Amino acid sequence: MKSRFLLAATALTLATVTASAQQPPPRIHIPITNKAWETPFPGFKIVGNLYYVGTEDLGCYLIQTNQGLILVNSGAEGSFALMKESIEKLGFKLTDIKVITATHGHADHVADLAAFQKIGGAKVYMSEIDAPVLESGGNLDYRRPGGRGIIYEPIKVDVRTKDGDKIALGNVELTVHAHPGHTPGSTSFTFPVTEGGRTYNVGIINMNGINGGVKLLYEPGYPTIIKDFRETLEKQAQMTPDIWVSSHAGQFNLHQVYKPGDPYNPARFGDLNAYKAKIAGAMQAYKKQLAEEQQQAYR
Ligand SMILES: [Zn+2]
Repeated sequence: MKSRFLLAATALTLATVTASAQQPPPRIHIPITNKAWETPFPGFKIVGNLYYVGTEDLGCYLIQTNQGLILVNSGAEGSFALMKESIEKLGFKLTDIKVITATHGHADHVADLAAFQKIGGAKVYMSEIDAPVLESGGNLDYRRPGGRGIIYEPIKVDVRTKDGDKIALGNVELTVHAHPGHTPGSTSFTFPVTEGGRTYNVGIINMNGINGGVKLLYEPGYPTIIKDFRETLEKQAQMTPDIWVSSHAGQFNLHQVYKPGDPYNPARFGDLNAYKAKIAGAMQAYKKQLAEEQQQAYR
């Protein structure tokens, strides 16, 4: 009798666990606390066929090809309307966006991606490592093993990319650089832009900051984080882009080098020393945090 009761109780527990495991994660809205994320910023031409279409802080880019547009990053929840205005004021149509990709799978760069995807049926390319995060609507996050809840409309990823892959549309071909650290699937893109007889090596570089609360020495959800950060920063230090931009405005000094209405001048985004300083600063921050964590660990 007793064992039969136990069996029944076990079966009941299992059924309860299974049912709760099958329950979809809740849809939650995370309030935006950084005002600059949702402050509009007029779109403008960076160089040749590359345009800035992000908000005051969120770096989003439009690349014109002879067969439609490539969009890199969609901003946070609510960025769509601001970006739409920038894109249309520059004379482009949302329906011409044929390819979409992103620098990494955090909500401030992908939350409104599904809205863009639906309009023109664009193909979404994403790092094979961050792709499941987008497909889960942000529920998957190595920092939160129990799931975070669905924080944006899940995105159907059409093509999973890895280091060295090409994303091609018409006469433009982006090279994919796996730059893990900030997230396991963080990605930078490089491509040539020719204008006025000159070819620029352009980089959309994902700068590798360490999110608050992330521990380099103990991240069970991301065991290679120490190595990834170091290797990415070393690789980025070797790069010599002629023009460079990034996932956040502050990361490429947007507001120091450009004010709305300033005349077109690609050189303002070509300060290689400033680029090197950003990478060196990130390396310094990484080493400092690692040293502090090691000190704590051995105390
Ligand atoms: Zn991020």
